[in-house]
Amino acid sequence: MPDLAPAGEPVTACGGRLGRPHLPMRPLWRCRACGAEWPCQPARLSLLVEYRDDRVALLVYLATLMNEAGDQLAQLTAQPRVDLTDRFLTWARPR
Ligand SMILES: [Zn+2]
Repeated sequence: MPDLAPAGEPVTACGGRLGRPHLPMRPLWRCRACGAEWPCQPARLSLLVEYRDDRVALLVYLATLMNEAGDQLAQLTAQPRVDLTDRFLTWARPR
């Protein structure tokens, strides 16, 4: 039996049909699935799994998102940019 999703129910690479994928909601940068500040714990886990063979690529990707989030959050709150390093990068650095 081919494992196909019913029409109109897209299967995403992250999360599949088992649950909603933990992806950021712009410009708030909260998780679409659990509402926590993104990257939430499940998002971090799935990123670590997805990039397990290429930690450098993960850090480059997260740095890009961190810049985007910094811009958008600063605009949204009309506050100076906050340091998002811990939220986006520190946890992903190799031990
Ligand atoms: Zn989440």
